Amino acid sequence: MENIRENIESIRKRIADVAKRAGRDADDIKLIAVTKTVDVDKVEEAIAADALDAGENKPQELARKYEVLGDKIRWHQIGSLQTNKVKYIIDKVCMIHSLDREGLAEEIDKRANKIGRVIDCLVQVNISGEESKHGMSREEVEPFVRLVAEKYPNIKIKGLMTMAPFDAERDEIRKVFRDLKELSDEINNMNIGNVEMNELSMGMTNDFEIAVEEGATMVRVGTAIFGKRNYNK
Ligand SMILES: *Cc1c(COP(=O)(O)O)cnc(C)c1O
Repeated sequence: MENIRENIESIRKRIADVAKRAGRDADDIKLIAVTKTVDVDKVEEAIAADALDAGENKPQELARKYEVLGDKIRWHQIGSLQTNKVKYIIDKVCMIHSLDREGLAEEIDKRANKIGRVIDCLVQVNISGEESKHGMSREEVEPFVRLVAEKYPNIKIKGLMTMAPFDAERDEIRKVFRDLKELSDEINNMNIGNVEMNELSMGMTNDFEIAVEEGATMVRVGTAIFGKRNYNK
């Protein structure tokens, strides 16, 4: 049995320790509890342990849990998002971390407009260039954020998100996070209207400490909180 409260407290402490070493304020780093495949009662336990943010990668699963838990926790769509699934989550999420193409921006904008909301989004970047990873290449990001800022007023870009390559060496992971931070700073310096580059969503169970050292403002942690996932339930 996982002790969810203990796990969350231990991760928060690890984040605080790394932040301190890196000369950062731990309050600038949000822990997103990744609740995919995790039962609602376990999410309740995380909420009781002061988890404020939950991340899901399947829109219908997010919607189903939202029906039960509502706004007791803030919901983040963190996984690749099919255009035809936007409708399930548009009124439930506080942020979409996986904006990676214009077709998706168009749909989010349209649905957001319908419900009179502006949706905070992060652009997902495939820094490592791994074929299996979603997200746009580094070079595509700047023109894309300009396009979204001009054309889609119901989307507010808040920053960037990436996933480090699976099974990579620590140095390689660090390089990915450092490159994302560098890209974020570059775009930030361009002062593009209606675009903010304040959030960097990077780091998971195996690499969140490196991510914090490299400037993450949001880490997405599942396994270290809830234990190994069972996808076959
Ligand atoms: C599953 C998932 C995570 C969490 O992964 P863990 O290794 O269990 O911490 C983070 N981000 C995304 C996009 C995910 O799909």
